[in-house]
Amino acid sequence: MALDVHFYQKNTTELFSELKSQNLGLSSSESQKRLEEFGPNALQEKKKKPAWLLFLGQFKDFMILILAAAAVISGIVGDLTDTIIILVIIVLNAVLGFVQEYRAEKAMDSLKKLTETQTKVFRDGQLVAVPSRELVPGDVVALEAGNMVPADLRLIETFSLKVDESSLTGESVPIDKQTGVLEGENLNPGDQLNMAFKGTLVTNGRATGLVVATGMKTQIGKIASMLQENPPLTPLQQRMQRFGKLISVIILGICAALFIAGIARGEEIFPVLLLSVSLAVAAIPEALPALITIALSLGAGRLAKKKALIRKLPAVESLGSVTYICTDKTGTLTQNKMTVTEVDAFHHTPISAEYSNLQLGLGLCHDVHLDKKGRPEGESTEVALVERMLQELTKEQYQSLIQSFPRIGEVPFDSSRKRMSTFHQVGDQVLMLCKGAPEAVSSILKKKEQAFQLQESAEGWAKKGERVLAFAGKILDQLPEEAEWINLESELDYYGKVGMIDPPREEVKLAISECRTAGIHPVMITGDHPATARAIANAVGIWKKGDVTLTGTELGNLSDEDFANQVENVSVYARVAPEQKLRIVKALQQKGHFAAMTGDGVNDAPSLKAANIGVAMGIAGTDVSKEAAHMILLDDNFSTIVRAIKEGRRIYDNIVKFIKYIMTCNGAEIWTIGLAPFLGFPNPLLPIHILWINLVTDGLPALALANERPEKDIMQQPPRPPKQSLFANGVGYHIVWVGMLMAGVTLFTQYWAIRQGWHWQTMVFSVLAFSQLGHVMAVRSDRTLLWQQGFLSNKPLLLAVGSTFLLQMGVIYLPFLNPIFRTEPLDLQELLFSGGMALIVFHAVELEKIIRRRFAHRLHR
Ligand code: ATP
Repeated sequence: MALDVHFYQKNTTELFSELKSQNLGLSSSESQKRLEEFGPNALQEKKKKPAWLLFLGQFKDFMILILAAAAVISGIVGDLTDTIIILVIIVLNAVLGFVQEYRAEKAMDSLKKLTETQTKVFRDGQLVAVPSRELVPGDVVALEAGNMVPADLRLIETFSLKVDESSLTGESVPIDKQTGVLEGENLNPGDQLNMAFKGTLVTNGRATGLVVATGMKTQIGKIASMLQENPPLTPLQQRMQRFGKLISVIILGICAALFIAGIARGEEIFPVLLLSVSLAVAAIPEALPALITIALSLGAGRLAKKKALIRKLPAVESLGSVTYICTDKTGTLTQNKMTVTEVDAFHHTPISAEYSNLQLGLGLCHDVHLDKKGRPEGESTEVALVERMLQELTKEQYQSLIQSFPRIGEVPFDSSRKRMSTFHQVGDQVLMLCKGAPEAVSSILKKKEQAFQLQESAEGWAKKGERVLAFAGKILDQLPEEAEWINLESELDYYGKVGMIDPPREEVKLAISECRTAGIHPVMITGDHPATARAIANAVGIWKKGDVTLTGTELGNLSDEDFANQVENVSVYARVAPEQKLRIVKALQQKGHFAAMTGDGVNDAPSLKAANIGVAMGIAGTDVSKEAAHMILLDDNFSTIVRAIKEGRRIYDNIVKFIKYIMTCNGAEIWTIGLAPFLGFPNPLLPIHILWINLVTDGLPALALANERPEKDIMQQPPRPPKQSLFANGVGYHIVWVGMLMAGVTLFTQYWAIRQGWHWQTMVFSVLAFSQLGHVMAVRSDRTLLWQQGFLSNKPLLLAVGSTFLLQMGVIYLPFLNPIFRTEPLDLQELLFSGGMALIVFHAVELEKIIRRRFAHRLHR
């Protein structure tokens, strides 16, 4: 099938024959065949680094290279055993680094797979939803507002179609599309008005289009290489990168000073060099960035299992800072199962002999379709209407109603007008039907007293928590031009109203009260009537007497400054247009808040982007809102946001825990080696000891800390200030004083063991290793003592600590390891002494928690 490039110059009939397709698309078997021929409709991923390159990448660290060089040189001039073991340790370190990076990549990949979109396409003559990856040239797809265009399409039919092509052309104003053939050679994609391109967004209207190019053959595919950059670093990663650079310089300075001091003391050059370089390698926290990436991406994986899909990794770490959740009502707080509970028909000259005017409105003025099993499919408000009709009419009667009044035009629903109109042929006349919010319909009624009465009675229903829809219509002699249709919404006759309820989700009440104890303010933003909104907000615990409700109109009348002064008192926003959500986010941010905002429609995109955490709906959400969001709720449920915040807080806490752990251990190594000469002690540790401790402590226990369960009172803590330093809340002090304590017990051991004539060096080596293990057990919680927390509650950590302990015992007691590690078996007294010293560190950290708790209580009083 040779395809010409200029699809826009051809009419659709030509293209159908060229692509061997037709209005109703392809058959399943043909599309399958083409899928094999053309491949999936996906942009090629950037070629992944092969595993061996990833592994080699571990050696590009400058200090590691120096260490290897120093080891080789000192092997040539002195002892080869040391050289070999150091090289082995370097390789083991690289293996660990490789495994960590590989896991992080895999975790990110599996997340990406979850965000694939679906497209409505004609297959075997039926409109079905298929994964967008499976589209092939020749497919006919249906687009509607909110969709992302799944492939390059030649448009066949358009209804008020507008497409935002900014991702392709940079043009941010949505473009009006049409179907007519275009002249002109080599038009830019931006000028090809009868085409819709993959990756652009439908902001308005509907269309059908013929797929002319998929995957890398599409316009975006041709420039795809430009788009495949690495994701930017998260704020935490950036801070860690800056901090890592600073700390490396400091450590290098200290190690250089140690080296110079050693030479000045008259020590041999190579052993001192090796010691200083080993210390630098051990103390520079080079594993931290990879560990943070793993913690974030594994965290994102856990969030996905909890039905919160992370689209942008920084969201994982910032979830814990959320102070406001601004949420939609329908579907998020409620079940999105509308049921009509009250009907109030207004008697008026009937248009049809068989049906009342209200029945015509209920039965005809909507976009619901019956599926193969005869169940109504569509938007929940409208489904409720059709379900109601199906209680009054049989399916056959309902279908004959639709056939007797064929629809010939529509002005679609939009949430700023809050109404929709449809036009139907009745003999040689046209019936116009309109339905919408009571005030949106009453304002266009012919008779003012009907309008007044409608508003009054609707208010009463709304107070009960019902959504009220009013119906109206009129007869026209003929249907004017499409551009005029919207102006026909005036001078209508009133047909009646219905009230429907959408019960709150059961679990939401609990989630809201959890928010409150966690210092998070839940706020409802809805397009619904204020009375309906308040009733539901009250039922779930968002609104109580005395809280402020603001309507969209009131909000529109407030200046930015006045609104910012009020924004913290408002708990319900009603009759708000989606565009106004952006103002709410901005006002909250101006007051220093960190806001999560939910949304599902096209017009929600700006506020989702601007929110600190934009949350799109996985089920009801449009592609446009998903594109703009940081997080997608797979179950559209408010409680999932709260669960995600809890998980976010846990992930951040655990990151702080392993940073605290690693930095303290590294500090202890520096203090020990650095202070010994001042105390007149011989070098306490050999290079291999330092490297060994670094290898076993940095990697496994630290990674296992990322698994730590949430602190018991995690949702009783206030949100974390977003700019808070990693070293706030005593973390910095902890690193310094516990590091010094570890060094203190180690150096005391050295002093005491030398006096007693014990195997001092093996003891020093073991005390440092064991006290780090004691530390990791204590650092598992900031506030809870180990025995209260449950010794067994983090099994991976227990496994890591257990195996590290056994390895250390092996290094002490296995005869073949003794010469390699220059260790000697300790007798029972020496071993117990070493264990006892290490336990001091553990208990000191436990004591720190008790003191902090007391201190915190006093502060609260
Ligand atoms: P929420 O924010 O709670 O999800 P919503 O987004 O459903 O509310 P909109 O969809 O903006 O709110 O609807 C606003 C109002 O428009 C509704 O209260 C209702 O009166 C009216 N309305 C909703 N759906 C339709 C529809 N399909 N046809 C006509 N009017 C509608």
